[in-house]
Amino acid sequence: MTLPYGRQVLDEEDVAEVIRVLRSDFLTCGPEVDAFEREFAEFVGAKHAVAVCNATAALHLALLVADIGPGDRVVTSPNTFLASANCAAYVGARPDFCDIDRITHNLDPAKLEDGWKQDTKAVIAVDYAGLPCDMPEISRIARSKNAVLIEDACHGAGGGFCFEGKNWKLGGHPWADITVFSFHPVKTMTTGEGGMMVTDNSEWAAKARRLRAHGMTRDASSFCGLEDDPSSPTWQEQGPWYYEMQELGYNYRITDIQCALGRSQLRKLPGFIKRRQEIVAQYNREFANAPFLETPRTPSLSTIAFPASLLSWHLYTVQIDFAALGIARTRFMTTLRHLGVGSQVLYIPVHLQPWYRKTYGYSIGMYPVAEKYYSSALSLPLFPAMTDNDVNRVVSAVKNILNRD
Ligand SMILES: *Cc1c(COP(=O)(O)O)cnc(C)c1O
Repeated sequence: MTLPYGRQVLDEEDVAEVIRVLRSDFLTCGPEVDAFEREFAEFVGAKHAVAVCNATAALHLALLVADIGPGDRVVTSPNTFLASANCAAYVGARPDFCDIDRITHNLDPAKLEDGWKQDTKAVIAVDYAGLPCDMPEISRIARSKNAVLIEDACHGAGGGFCFEGKNWKLGGHPWADITVFSFHPVKTMTTGEGGMMVTDNSEWAAKARRLRAHGMTRDASSFCGLEDDPSSPTWQEQGPWYYEMQELGYNYRITDIQCALGRSQLRKLPGFIKRRQEIVAQYNREFANAPFLETPRTPSLSTIAFPASLLSWHLYTVQIDFAALGIARTRFMTTLRHLGVGSQVLYIPVHLQPWYRKTYGYSIGMYPVAEKYYSSALSLPLFPAMTDNDVNRVVSAVKNILNRD
């Protein structure tokens, strides 16, 4: 069997939870959604969690509730999945980028501050691979410019960092205004497809709940003067069927079936994270002296630190100097596959995508650190069901290729 770079871990308990909901009255809009939101909010330490059909929808809602739109600029990392930038285009804002730090591969706060443009109204900080961004520093910059700070924590559910001696969880710290998580099967916990928008802002949470369901509300407010129109008397009648729409929303709902799976997976998340940490530690030890290869680093900056016990790793991405090694990455990956080891390249810098070049004029050379990282990045298998033996298989396959003359 080929080891994939990532995959879900489901057990009979998860399956039983899904079947329980299939036999119940509510497949959607039922009690599992509320319960999942409550439990997730409590787990990360946030006031509100709004569950939606995927994290892309959660990012879209985050920008909508923060009132980001045409004329605004939204800055994110080029080293991310398309969705972190696409959401800006959805609301008519301009997606823009800030290059990454050489060591963390996350948005570089110094470059963010230096390159700040006046129309920047939101920053989307992406915790690449699960390593948190320097959120306190990015927040200091964003707040000084009155911009909203959204954390794309799709890679890091359950993870956290240490700031000035105190531990904080993603979604539960005071530096992000909104945090977004993904429950796609390749991520740390899954609902099949699913996402969560987390915030302490009650108005934003309420608005996100409305926008996830067409902008509908059952509260009667006003029909913009129509109630005074004698020719349309029915508008005044507000019976039990009553609903009204004051703003344009979407259908971004998640089902009860998915939320039951989410609740079950959430209970296992600490165990998943622990196993991921063990595998990462094993890889780091084994690859410490490997030629042409660099393991991920978790530096301690001046005030923020990343103790291994707090990190929720989604990816194990090494950097390989393919040119010095004399083997092209494609060949490296094919050889790995023949040895039963899958791998993946994450990410093609978003600004280099044809649509971004043609729509906004981005080009090669604009974010050189992200581009260089892309040229050397290779993500190796990482998921909780991997055995020590599986990890050793990956290690010897990689070392075999590296040490070939
Ligand atoms: C997976 C991912 C998303 C999108 O998540 P979906 O749930 O698939 O919509 C957004 N940002 C990052 C960084 C991701 O890895």
